[in-house]
Amino acid sequence: MQTTLKEIIDLRSDTVTKPTPGMLQAMLSAQVGDDVYEEDPMVNELQEKTAHIFGMEAGLFCPSGTMTNQIAIRILTQPGDEVICDRLAHIYNYEGGGIAVNSLASVRLVHGERGRFTPQDVLENINDDNVHYPRTSLVALENTVNKGGGCYYTLDQIAAISKVCRQHRISLHLDGARVFNALVATGESPAEYGKYFDTISVCLSKGLGAPVGSVLLGSHQLIAKAKRMRKLMGGGWRQAGFLAAAGIYALDHHIQRLSEDHIRARKIAQALQQLPVVEEILPVDTNIVIFKLSSEKTTQDFLTYLKEQQILASAFGKDKIRIVTHLDFTDAMLERLIVVLQKLPVLATK
Ligand SMILES: *Cc1c(COP(=O)(O)O)cnc(C)c1O
Repeated sequence: MQTTLKEIIDLRSDTVTKPTPGMLQAMLSAQVGDDVYEEDPMVNELQEKTAHIFGMEAGLFCPSGTMTNQIAIRILTQPGDEVICDRLAHIYNYEGGGIAVNSLASVRLVHGERGRFTPQDVLENINDDNVHYPRTSLVALENTVNKGGGCYYTLDQIAAISKVCRQHRISLHLDGARVFNALVATGESPAEYGKYFDTISVCLSKGLGAPVGSVLLGSHQLIAKAKRMRKLMGGGWRQAGFLAAAGIYALDHHIQRLSEDHIRARKIAQALQQLPVVEEILPVDTNIVIFKLSSEKTTQDFLTYLKEQQILASAFGKDKIRIVTHLDFTDAMLERLIVVLQKLPVLATK
């Protein structure tokens, strides 16, 4: 009997959550239909509900946030266009070169502050209308910024960027994989978002705890185009209502509780601060803790030590570690993690 084995504490990402009993019940009792015929009541409800929350006309439920981002970029650009985003952006770093492949577009990287940039940054990176230059047609923001350690934009900052985009007839997309973390942290209303963005990708499977899925939001016209593109990419699906039911449940029950994840993340940062081996911790604004250690070896040793204690975290580059709190990370687990951190042996710093 392996009765001494402790439960694994998985802090690699907020994608690792499993459906709660309530969510499973919602999935089991879902009324479904064929979504390619637009006959899945749960999918239709999820799309309308999410659009309504963000003040948008329509939504399209997709298997992943990568797909919703890639569809948005594809329908808002023409081949040869250029997309402005931050150098830390997920769409640039972690989508397999999708912008080049799916949209035949180039990327203009802004060097913002922890992945956030300003209206001035946008202005400085818009190309003049000249045959030599790619046509700047899209700006993409990420909120919260994953690689920036979960920092967020406020609505005022978003409004200012949106204004510049509109003045220059440039579309604005939001990668909102963790947009609810931003909203809970700022206390702002999602209903305002629709005014500022052409498209928004909202993830249901990260902090919100649904097993699968993101919803792309936009105007009726853009979502009709998006649906065609989803089909082309192989994302037209059938009785997806079982998954949509989980998404609806997540929107109804798992938004406000994100503040608990934020509190736990801050407590982890406080514990890390006590460790001499930790050189720097990015400010903890939401549910992501990114910290730097003195060397690649120390980083590996740190991760190995955690793993021996059944705790998983992610290497983030050579000398950084990322910890992400989520629905399945409890106060009891937090206490265990803090004890484990307090007992960290002295690690070689070279
Ligand atoms: C996770 C993530 C995505 C992509 O979501 P998948 O569903 O894993 O494809 C996009 N953007 C950001 C910022 C993310 O963290």
